[in-house]
Amino acid sequence: MKKVIFLLVDSLIPSILEECIQEKLVPAFQFLKERGQYWSNCVTVFPTMTASVDSSLLTGVYPNIHRVPGLIWYDPETKEIINYINGWQCLWKQGMYTCAQSVLYHLNEKHLSKQVSTLFEELAERGFTSGSINTIVHRGVKKHPVKPPFIIDVATGFRLREPVSGPDVLTLGRFVQTPFDAAIPKQCGTFYTFYGINDDYAVHAVKKLIRSNELPDFTLVYLPDNDHLLHRKNPDHGVSALIQVDQRIQEILGAFDSWDAALEKTVFIVTGDHGQTRIGDEKQFNIDLDELLKSFHGLPLGKKVEDHDFVLCNNERMAYVYPLKPEKEKEILRKLLSDARIDLLAIKKDRGVLVKESGSGKEIYFAPGGPLVDIYASKWTISGDWSVLDLYLDCGIIHYRDYPDGLARLYGALYSQEIPMIVITARPRYEFISRYYPSHLNGGSHGSLHKYDSIVPLLVTGTKQTFLNPPRLVDMKNFILQLFDYKEKAET
Ligand SMILES: [Zn+2]
Repeated sequence: MKKVIFLLVDSLIPSILEECIQEKLVPAFQFLKERGQYWSNCVTVFPTMTASVDSSLLTGVYPNIHRVPGLIWYDPETKEIINYINGWQCLWKQGMYTCAQSVLYHLNEKHLSKQVSTLFEELAERGFTSGSINTIVHRGVKKHPVKPPFIIDVATGFRLREPVSGPDVLTLGRFVQTPFDAAIPKQCGTFYTFYGINDDYAVHAVKKLIRSNELPDFTLVYLPDNDHLLHRKNPDHGVSALIQVDQRIQEILGAFDSWDAALEKTVFIVTGDHGQTRIGDEKQFNIDLDELLKSFHGLPLGKKVEDHDFVLCNNERMAYVYPLKPEKEKEILRKLLSDARIDLLAIKKDRGVLVKESGSGKEIYFAPGGPLVDIYASKWTISGDWSVLDLYLDCGIIHYRDYPDGLARLYGALYSQEIPMIVITARPRYEFISRYYPSHLNGGSHGSLHKYDSIVPLLVTGTKQTFLNPPRLVDMKNFILQLFDYKEKAET
């Protein structure tokens, strides 16, 4: 029976991958592409941030169903900002324990809806084993002991002790005890290498599993290094970053007797979680939301809501603004719409979504269900100016241009919580900044609904099973389950 290795490369961009293949710079990607199926137009999840994307990837639904709104969001129950960690400053301000608890436990056990099951849970139900190498969403049927590195242990007051749930094999760098931890070189898991949340650690873990014949039926491997490089240097330097990723994939293929033998034994799926947009190099390309909303009383990071007017949750090129007082909401909306660097502004209306374009005054309203059908077979009711979301009709079907799967993805974000929310996105080349959040001037950033952040390449090699066309990451869970159902049938 063939096993499945799924490589999730953070910020994998189709144009960079294609350029690298054309120039013959990435032999492993080239090998997988030549032997398999390739799509350059796979749509990811909105907000285009790892937490919301991974949740959809593993549950097969958008945030309105799985309930993880993004990397940063406001929880009305605890009256606090939830932060699955974006940068050291946030970590310092909110406290190591709060952030670590959010990402280690709450994301999987509390925030990710119990009404949906993860791919790991469903594979276990069908009698298949699975593994998660360093992905932040990993809810499964087994419990794994947590043992943070010493400095983190001290900084969190030795309070991170509860086991975390996961599939049969779970690594989270050096944060979780794994039986093969000793086989991974020490330098892969130091303070300077994010304690093992890096490509080097992940690839060592996979190689160990392959060589010791312990590879689960399905293994999801998260490779984050490409994202860090693109944030810092910008996507124009993506070629050198991708060459490094390719070397990692070569190492994985090399752990088999040969690359051909790897494909005889394994189905490889390679994709990204989102793209990135190059940010301009002058200060004006940072949209300072603290400054824009300074006439209102916003919740500072690390504090609980009391008499505040709004809560800002900055997800780089996207932000959630939660109006807390109905009488201030209109004023907040007006202020946000006054900045032409903001691209789209969307709010809930009736049972649908009202989207406004800043500057032009144009707007569009849509709601699920109705006479119109899009290329993903979703049905919609739409009124207003279609140009706001760059939609057009072809042969009676709704098509998307700048905002792929824009209707379902925007709806998914706005209905991820049942409280008033404003979604804003930044125009290409711009990103939102606010105190304690990272800025990427002349670097790369993501989070928005725009195609630059939303399109990833998809490679499937080692199976004849085809993916739904046009492809979306939200359809990945079903595809993988079908792969296993198909295998089961083939063997009986
Ligand atoms: Zn990133």
